[in-house]
Amino acid sequence: MSNNPRYGCFNERVKLRKRLKAMGITRCMNPKCGQLLDWEHPYRQNSAEIDEIVPISKLPKEMRARAAIDPRNVQVLCRRCNQQKSNKLNWDGGKVRKPPEFETPPSPVDWFS
Ligand SMILES: [Zn+2]
Repeated sequence: MSNNPRYGCFNERVKLRKRLKAMGITRCMNPKCGQLLDWEHPYRQNSAEIDEIVPISKLPKEMRARAAIDPRNVQVLCRRCNQQKSNKLNWDGGKVRKPPEFETPPSPVDWFS
């Protein structure tokens, strides 16, 4: 089993992806990009990928699994933008939202209730 916290909640990530797709997000959420997303095919430069606004690696361990699926902390980027952003907190390519403060621990309840 990998230590990557994203794999610790794989099913929730799959649900989150379906939900974001169902919301009709069709364009990369980087305002400097905005290209049409490809939800069907992985590994293309415009493939839809879920990005954590605050990179999981920057959070305390106990918050990571939930932050990976917290609606306050995710955005949909094209693969190209997601790779450019990588794990940077202050991303010059287009910061979509102010990173969440996490006054309360991230919770997946908003997505799945
Ligand atoms: Zn993009």
